[in-house]
Amino acid sequence: MDEQAWMQDIRPLVGKEYGRVYAWDKVNAPMIRQWCEVMGVDDKPYLVEGAVIAPPAMLQVWCMEGFTQNNYPPGSTQENPYEALKLMEAQGLPSVVAVNSELTFDRDVREGEKLYYTTRLDAISPEKVTALGTGYFVTLVMSYFSELPQGDEQVGQLLFRVFKFRPAQPVKVAEPKPMAVAKRPPPGISDDTRFFWEGARAGKLLIQRCSACQTLRHPPGPVCPSCHSFEWDALQASGRGKVYSFVVMHYPEVAPFEHPNLIVLVELEEGTRLISQLVGIPPGDVRIGQAVQVEFNTFDGDLVLPQFRLLTEGAAA
Ligand code: ZN
Repeated sequence: MDEQAWMQDIRPLVGKEYGRVYAWDKVNAPMIRQWCEVMGVDDKPYLVEGAVIAPPAMLQVWCMEGFTQNNYPPGSTQENPYEALKLMEAQGLPSVVAVNSELTFDRDVREGEKLYYTTRLDAISPEKVTALGTGYFVTLVMSYFSELPQGDEQVGQLLFRVFKFRPAQPVKVAEPKPMAVAKRPPPGISDDTRFFWEGARAGKLLIQRCSACQTLRHPPGPVCPSCHSFEWDALQASGRGKVYSFVVMHYPEVAPFEHPNLIVLVELEEGTRLISQLVGIPPGDVRIGQAVQVEFNTFDGDLVLPQFRLLTEGAAA
């Protein structure tokens, strides 16, 4: 099979040497200790007093960019050693799979040494057809050096081979699923609050009342804040009240709520206040002090919530 024409522009890159990528830090004991801990490796052989050496498998680690992507130390090359892969990607070979990673070590790396590596584009195979797809094996060789006054010394190499390919099966882009219809977050119901939600189901707005001193309280709780009695019952509220305060939520838009979302603090005729939604009114029209009336609306099949609506003139008692 004739080589793709575009590959004739990429293949001359084989043999190209890319500039140095430096290590941020000299080889040091704390990093060795941490690496051994993370890897579950005994650090004793490496952290010998006065003779600290790096675990060989850490070779690649010293010159890594760190937490921030492409954050290489000053002096590091601006070239992209992976340019051949980029160019192949631009020709319709989007996928990549690592094939080989072979480390070789020339000698121990000692505490205090400053490393860098250079990259050579070692080889690009002829086009290969595999079960995964059709593409090219690309081999890069990173050579690691220690910077030394008497002349830099190679300490090891990493051969890294990938298969850059066009998948045999077109990459399946997941069909966008119809958005699951978000449900209203149900209230957390406890022994203290169950009566309130059961009341709502029955179309009643209930207020907790201290049996000892008759003080009303909301939200419900186990103890009367006035007399500390644990005894309580519930009073059915008229459902009428006033807008004590309100807030209009524009952002973030959280399903299933419609936005702007008008949230009100209603002061009931009986004196307690509760947070709810005001429905049937553009958010811009709501005013502090407006008279409101409760209504019970059902969501998601079985969730009954008290909501409020402006009290109409005729309904005003
Ligand atoms: Zn009380």
